[in-house]
Amino acid sequence: MTTNSKKGKVYLVGAGPGDPDLITLRGAELIKSADCIICDKLANPALLQFARRDAEIIHVPKRLGSSSFTQEEINSLLIDKAFICRTVVRLKGGDPCVFGRAGQEIAALAQAEIDYEIVPGITAGIAAADYAGIMLTDRDFSSQVVFVTGREADEKQKSSIDWQWLASFSGTIVFYMAMGNIEFISGTLIENGMAEDTPAAIIADATLPSQRIVKDHLKQISLKCEQEKIEPPAIVIIGAAAGGDPGLSWFMKKPLFGKNIVVTRDRFGNAEFASKIIRDGGNPIEFATIKIKPLTQSNKFLQTLAGIADCHWIIFTSTSGVKIFFDCLQDMEKDARVFGAAKIAAIGSETADELKKFGIKADFMPAVFTSKELGRELTSFTNLQGKKILLLRSALASNELAELLEQAGSQVTNEPVYTNLTEKSDSIWLTEKIRKGAIDWLTFASPSSVRSFFEQISADLVNSSSLKIASIGPVTSEQLDKIGIRIDVAAKEHTIDGLLAALKGYV
Ligand code: SAH
Repeated sequence: MTTNSKKGKVYLVGAGPGDPDLITLRGAELIKSADCIICDKLANPALLQFARRDAEIIHVPKRLGSSSFTQEEINSLLIDKAFICRTVVRLKGGDPCVFGRAGQEIAALAQAEIDYEIVPGITAGIAAADYAGIMLTDRDFSSQVVFVTGREADEKQKSSIDWQWLASFSGTIVFYMAMGNIEFISGTLIENGMAEDTPAAIIADATLPSQRIVKDHLKQISLKCEQEKIEPPAIVIIGAAAGGDPGLSWFMKKPLFGKNIVVTRDRFGNAEFASKIIRDGGNPIEFATIKIKPLTQSNKFLQTLAGIADCHWIIFTSTSGVKIFFDCLQDMEKDARVFGAAKIAAIGSETADELKKFGIKADFMPAVFTSKELGRELTSFTNLQGKKILLLRSALASNELAELLEQAGSQVTNEPVYTNLTEKSDSIWLTEKIRKGAIDWLTFASPSSVRSFFEQISADLVNSSSLKIASIGPVTSEQLDKIGIRIDVAAKEHTIDGLLAALKGYV
C-alpha cells in the first residue's frame, strides 16, 4: 500500500458485540489516541469515554431507509478526515468485516491512496452464542457453522442465499439482521425441507444487561418472537446447537443482571463504578451530580506543602484527595519524599490502594471507614499529645475528625485539597425513566451527591416509586434522612466495592 506522509491513517476498529469490555486491547488503545472517531450505531458509546477530550466524535447511524448518512457519505467523511487528522478511528459494531460494509469503505480509502488497518472485533454471532450458553460447534452435533444475512442489499434482484442448500445444512446456521424477516426465513427453510422441529434460538441485545433469549422449534419461532416482543438487534441461531435449556445463559445469572442502576458520583468516580456494575451484569446509568475542583493552586495550600515534613501524621480521607494531591506534586516535579518521616493514615481500603499507586503504604487505617472512627481509633492507636496532624481532604468535610484529634491533644491543620461543585445532569430524562418504573436502583456515595441529586430530581417522586436506594455509609445516610428519603440498603464496608456488595446482597 502507498504511504503518504501528509495524510492520516484510518483504522477500521471492531467495537465488539455490545459490552464495552469486549473490545480488543488494540482497539481500546486506538480509541485513546484517535483525533477523530466515526462511530456506528451498534458500537457501544461507553467506549468513547476513553477518547481524548479534544477528539472529534461523529455518530453515523445508518438507519434503514433513512438518509441520515448514506454509505457514500461515510466513505467521503473517512477520506476528508484522513486529510486533516493523523489517526481516524472508524468504530464499527462487532467485527468490521462481518456484514459491516467494510469492503466499500476500504475500496474508497484505497482509491484515495489513504493507508488503513483493520482491527478485528468479536462478532455478534459468536458473542451471542457464548453469552446464551450455545455451542456453535460441538463434536457430537455440529461440525460446521455458517453466517447468513437475514436482509440482503435492497438493490439485489436475485437472492444470493441458496435456501435449498441451507435447508439441508447439518451444522449451525447463524442469521444476522433477521428480525424483520424471521417469518420468511423460517418458512423458506421449512419449504425447502428443513424439519419443522429444528431447534431455533433468538438472542437480542447480546452481551448487554438487556439481553433476552427465546427458544422454540423452527415452525414456532416467529410467533414466539412476536409474542415476546423481541426487538433488534438480535441473532438467530438454527440447528441442533440452539436446542437445550435457555437457563444455560451463565451471563443472565449474574447478580445484577438486567438491573438499571443510577450512579451519582463525579464523572471519573462514575466511570469506575459503572465498569464494576457492568461486570456484575447490571446496566449503569450515569447521572453525575458533582464536579471535583482541585484547590491545590492556592497560596495557602502551597505554604502548607512547604512545611509538610514537619507533620507527625498526614491523613487522607478519599481517593480524590490522594489523586489531586499527587497531581499537584507531579506538577511541581516533586514526589512522595516531601512527606519526610511523617506517618500516613487513610480512611478506607480504596484510599489506601490509591496511596499505594504512589509508593506509599498507609501506616494506619481504621477498621470502620468513617472520619469519626478514624479519629477514635487513631487516638487509641498512638499518643497524639503535642503531635502535628495535617488533614488533606475535601473543603466540605465535617469538623468532627479535627475536633476528636484536638481533644487528644494534637495540633490539627485542615487543608482542603478539593471541593465539590454541583454538576447538572439530564434530570428530565431521568425523571421520565423513574416515572415509567425503568430504574431499579439509585446509589449514593457522598452527602454532596445526595444534595445535588435531590436539587435536580423530586424527592416525592423517588419516595413514591418502587426503585431502591443504596447508601455507601452513615454520613451519606444522614443526608438522605435529612431530605426524608428512605434507604433500602446501606453498605457494611464504606467503599464502592462495599456499595456494590450491598446491591448484590439485597433480596
Ligand atoms: N459487524 C457486526 C454486524 C453488523 S450487522 C458484527 O460483526 O457483529 C448488524 C446485525 O448484527 C444486527 O442486525 C444483529 O443481527 C447483529 N448484532 C449486532 N449487535 C448485536 C447484539 N448486541 N445482539 C444481537 N445481535 C447483534
